[in-house]
Amino acid sequence: MMNHLFDALTAFIPDRSKVFLETLDGGKITYADMFARSAQYAGALQKLGVKAGDRVAVQVEKTPDTLMLYLGTIRAGGVFLPLNTAYTPAEIGYFVGDAEPAVFVCDPARADELAGTAQKAGARLHTLDQNGEGSLSLLADQMPTDYDNRPREDDDLAAILYTSGTTGRSKGAMLTHGNLASNSQTMVKYWQFTEDDVLLHALPIFHTHGLFVATNCLMMAGGSMLFLPKFDLDQVLAALPKATAMMGVPTFYTRLLASDRFTRDVAAHMRLFISGSAPLSAEVHKEFRERTGHAILERYGMTETNMNTSNPYDGARRPGTVGFPLPGVGLRVVDARTGRELPDGEVGIIEIKGPNVFLGYWRMPEKTAQEFRADGYFITGDMGRVDEDGYVSIVGRSKDLIISGGFNVYPAEVEAMLDELPGVAESAVIGVPHPDFGEAVVAVLAPKPGAELGQDAVQASLNDRLAKFKQPKKVHILEALPRNTMGKIQKNVLRERFSGDFG
Ligand code: ATP
Ligand code: MG
Repeated sequence: MMNHLFDALTAFIPDRSKVFLETLDGGKITYADMFARSAQYAGALQKLGVKAGDRVAVQVEKTPDTLMLYLGTIRAGGVFLPLNTAYTPAEIGYFVGDAEPAVFVCDPARADELAGTAQKAGARLHTLDQNGEGSLSLLADQMPTDYDNRPREDDDLAAILYTSGTTGRSKGAMLTHGNLASNSQTMVKYWQFTEDDVLLHALPIFHTHGLFVATNCLMMAGGSMLFLPKFDLDQVLAALPKATAMMGVPTFYTRLLASDRFTRDVAAHMRLFISGSAPLSAEVHKEFRERTGHAILERYGMTETNMNTSNPYDGARRPGTVGFPLPGVGLRVVDARTGRELPDGEVGIIEIKGPNVFLGYWRMPEKTAQEFRADGYFITGDMGRVDEDGYVSIVGRSKDLIISGGFNVYPAEVEAMLDELPGVAESAVIGVPHPDFGEAVVAVLAPKPGAELGQDAVQASLNDRLAKFKQPKKVHILEALPRNTMGKIQKNVLRERFSGDFG
């Protein structure tokens, strides 16, 4: 039977005896094992009453069985709904209540606490722990190792993925089989993944980056993954010489660079380093290249759209840019107020259209309607521009745009200059209320280890480089900037904290 996504993911597997996943303890899971175990999970879900289109909500640690549960859900025609492992039971109550899954899988340690939540939502509660053991895995053990995949078309739902909640409460993005399959096909080609690739996988798998960009891509290429529970410097340094590619958030790269054990030799075997989910500073890009000889390939995507743009595989990977729109992805920059398309070089809101763009937000029809134009373009909320060579740059989110004395200040421009200052490890530029200017530009910096930074010196260094209205009126030095689990700087937290700076 035709199951659009699973068929696409498994179309090019060269040989089922090939290793799909290798875990830290040296355990190896072949593609044959993957077919068998995901069949067992599909069977278990079907036995629990999961029907085509039913949600399967999952808040469990990252293990190979979690991936098998994802694939089993797809095979059973279900809608996979992973939840951030950092969510508290109260937050889970909201998400599970909103999603009304047929089955909710959680860690055994939380089963008692979450039983009421599951019951209220009408979900069967099952468990999986950090070793891939639990009531669901026991049930799967009893199921046959083959499974007749339920038929699913390209416009059927495959997943509901919650956004990272960087700007507010997370929204559930409805993604179809076609969204996921088409985007992975594009990425495999664009980034030249083949069955010879070994991807170092240290990202969480409740988010699009680790789940769909990394896993789907590698599976579709028939490659292997070194499957680490999370980013641990020692483990990553040990695994790198066995890998050919890594996908990471920018903090992976800054953490590697902060270690003098991360040398050119450690990275010598690698063919590709990819970065996304948050802006990679041009400084980190430069430092990484000097240290390893590798130019990190930065790309731009969202939960709602999968991958939108990427720096080229062959050709110049320009620091501070996110490259070109991917084949098949329509990208335009429009005026925020009028919605009129802007010429190259001008800053506006980025809008996206293509087979990668989601169906809408789960049970939020008004929000969905607000975020789409009549001609089908999705309004990303990111601001950016396209330069004369076609490279896209992101200058910040529209919610982070600062309007000071009536002038627009794009945080990324100021951050890029701050990042260049010696001693600055990272920076965030925010707007806070100001009695005269409406908003004032405020910089928050984290120093490099051992470096001393002073407000006056920082301000003085920008004097002749930035127009007065863009210069930070205040500089705060923190040990580290607040980040969420995807490594994204939480500007809302900073705005709140420094809201009283001018009154
Ligand atoms: P929420 O929508 O809940 O506030 P979020 O937007 O952070 O959270 P995600 O879908 O995980 O949730 O992230 C997508 C966003 O991440 C993009 O809209 C963009 O702002 C940012 N992003 C992703 N890749 C890059 C990149 N390479 N450079 C700059 N920003 C990026
Ligand atoms: Mg978002």
